[in-house]
Amino acid sequence: MIRSSLSLAMLLAATTVSAAGLHGINPDDINRHGDACTDFFDYANGNWRQQNPIPDYMDRWSRRWQSGEVNKEHVRDILTEVSAKTDSPKGSAEQLSGDYYAACMDESRVNQLGIAPAKPWLDEIQAIKTRDDVQHTIGHLHEVGVAVPFVLYSDQDLHDPTQVVAMVAAGGLGLPDRDYYLKTEKRFVEARAEYLEHVAKMFVLAGAKPAEAEAAAKTVFAFEKRLAEASLDNVALRDPKQQDHKMALSGLQALAPAFDWAAYFDAAHVPKIDLNVTQPKFLQQVNTELATTPVDQWRTYLRWHVLRSAADALPEPFAEEKFAFYGKYLSGATEMKPRWKRCAEDTDNQLGEALGRAYVEKYFPPEAKARMQDMVKNILLAMRDTIDELDWMSQPTKAKALEKLATFNPKIGYPDKWKDYAGVRISRDSYWDDLVAASRWNVADDRARIGKPVDRSRWGMTPPTSNAYYNPSLNEIVFPAGILQPPAFDVKAIDAVNYGAIGVVIGHEISHGFDDQGAQFDAQGRLANWWTPEDNKQFQAKGQCVVKQFEGYFIEPGIHHNGKLVLGESIGDLAGAKLAYRAYLKSREGKGPEPTIDGFTPEQQFFIAWGQWRGDETRPETQRTMIQGDPHPIAKYRVNGPLSNLPAFREAFQCKVDAPMVRPQADRCDVW
Ligand SMILES: [Zn+2]
Repeated sequence: MIRSSLSLAMLLAATTVSAAGLHGINPDDINRHGDACTDFFDYANGNWRQQNPIPDYMDRWSRRWQSGEVNKEHVRDILTEVSAKTDSPKGSAEQLSGDYYAACMDESRVNQLGIAPAKPWLDEIQAIKTRDDVQHTIGHLHEVGVAVPFVLYSDQDLHDPTQVVAMVAAGGLGLPDRDYYLKTEKRFVEARAEYLEHVAKMFVLAGAKPAEAEAAAKTVFAFEKRLAEASLDNVALRDPKQQDHKMALSGLQALAPAFDWAAYFDAAHVPKIDLNVTQPKFLQQVNTELATTPVDQWRTYLRWHVLRSAADALPEPFAEEKFAFYGKYLSGATEMKPRWKRCAEDTDNQLGEALGRAYVEKYFPPEAKARMQDMVKNILLAMRDTIDELDWMSQPTKAKALEKLATFNPKIGYPDKWKDYAGVRISRDSYWDDLVAASRWNVADDRARIGKPVDRSRWGMTPPTSNAYYNPSLNEIVFPAGILQPPAFDVKAIDAVNYGAIGVVIGHEISHGFDDQGAQFDAQGRLANWWTPEDNKQFQAKGQCVVKQFEGYFIEPGIHHNGKLVLGESIGDLAGAKLAYRAYLKSREGKGPEPTIDGFTPEQQFFIAWGQWRGDETRPETQRTMIQGDPHPIAKYRVNGPLSNLPAFREAFQCKVDAPMVRPQADRCDVW
C-alpha cells in the first residue's frame, strides 16, 4: 500500500493547484527551451522525458505508461491482501485470484517442478502417429488457447449482430506477422535469424541436443513460412470485408477436407451452425499441411507452440529465453519485469473480473463515474453537432450517421454483471495447472456463447486495464476503470485537463465508429453500407489526406509509417482532439473561464494535457515493431500529427502560419 501511494504522489508532484483546489497541467514537464509551434511533442513533455528515462523493463514510457504501472501496484496490493488469507471460501473471487497469484509468485516451486507439468502435453504430441492424432491434439491444444495453426472463437455474426457465431481464424505464427517471414529488407532477414536461434534455444531448454534443436527450429520456420504465405498482411487485416466468408460447416469441410470438422466441433461442444472463416486461403494451406506434411514435422511444430505458449509458467530459463527474443530483441527492453508484475498481469489476464470488483471499489469512486458519464455525453453531442454541420456529406448519409451515433452504448469503469468463474479450480500447488485450468475455463466460456443471442453486458477488457476500445458490432465505447486514473482522468483536475487527456480518448473511441473500418458498420452493428457513392468518395479522399500525412513520418532513414495501417487510429486522434475541444468549450458555457495556471490559458492546457499524457519515449526496437504491425502511430506523431491539422491548436499557441506545427492549408486534413 505504501509503495503505491508513493508512486501516486510522485505522479502528481509537479502539479500546480488552482484557487478552487483543482489542478491543471504539469508545468514542470514542459521543455521551456522548446517551442510549441515547432515540435509540440518535445515541448509539452520534453522535460519529463528527459528526467524520466524508460525503465529497463519497459519498451516505452510516459505518464500514461507510468499510470498503467501504478495500476499494477494497486492490483498487486489487492492480490497480496487476498492471498494472505487462507480461509476464503473455495471458488470465491478472493480464493481464485489470491491462490492464482500465490502459485505464480512461488518461483521456487515453479523451478522445482521443472518441465514436469508440461510433460502430459509434450507426451501427447510425442505419441502422435497418424493424421487423426494430429487433429485430436490440435483440438486439445485449442481447449487451452494454443492457436495452432488456426483458432476458433466466438464473435457476432457480421450480418446479424444479434447472434453469436463461430469464427475460424488464422493463427499459428511465432513471429509477429506474415511480413517477418517474407520481406527481404535487412531488419526482417535479421529477425528471421534471431527467431531461428530463439526456437532452437527453447528446444535445448526442453531437453533436445543442440544439433537436433537447430534442425527442429528450421522445420518450425519452414512450416510457419508456408502458413505466412497464405496469411493476409496487416493492412488487409484491417478490412472487415476481406474477412467476411460466412459458410455452413459443409462449406468449411469442402474448403479443408483433410480435417474432420464435424468431429472437431462436437469435441469443442460448439453447435454446427453457419460460421465465418476469416481467411479461406489460410485454411486451404492448413489443409495442405494436414494432407502432405510428414507427421514428425507436425510434432515438432506443435511442441514448439506448447513451449512458446507456456514459457512463462515454466522455470525462469524458459521465461528468460522468451523475453530475450520478444522483449529484448523485438521491443528493446533490457530487463524482464519483476515477477510480481508478471504475476499481477497474468492474474488480471486470466481472472480479471474476479479481482476487478475489489479494484473498482478501491480505485473508482461513484463521483468519477458520474463525471465520466457527463464527459461522454458532451463529446457524443459534439459529434452530433459536427455531423450536422458537415459541408461534404448529403442529408441521407447524415441521417444514417446520426442514427448510428444515437445507438452508441458507452460502458464506463466496470461491467454491471460480473463473470461467475464457477467451476474453475485454482490451488497453490502448481502455477502451470492453474494457468491450464483458467485458460480452459476462458476458452469454454467464450465457446459457450456460440449459437446464442449476443449478451451486450460482456466486456472485452478487465477493469484494471489502462486502455479503451470501440466494438463496431456492438457499437459500444468502453473505458475500464484502469484508464480512468490520473493523469488521464482526475476528479480533482480542471475540465481543460480532463477533456484534453481522457476527453480526447473518448473522442477517439467515438470516431472509431466512423473511421475506415467503423464506417463500414451500420447503426445495428451490421457490416452494411449506409453511404451514398458520392459521400463515400469524399470520405475516402479525406482519409487519403491522413494516409499521405503519415506516410511522410519517418522513424529512421527509409522507414516511415504505413499510412493505410495507421489510418483508423489517426482518424480517431484527429477527430478525437477536435471533438473533445469542442465539447470542452461548450461545457464551460455559462460557467466562466477556467484558471490560467503558470501562464498557460485553459485552451493551452487542453492541448498540453494531451501531449503530456500521450507523450511516450519509445525504444527504437519498439518503434520498428510498431511501424510494421501496430495500427497506432508512435506517440510523437500521435501528438504532432493531429494537432498540426487543427486551427484551434494554432490559435491557442498563436503559431505563425508557416510554423512546423501548422500544416499548409492545402495539405490540412479534416475528416470529421
Ligand atoms: Zn484506437
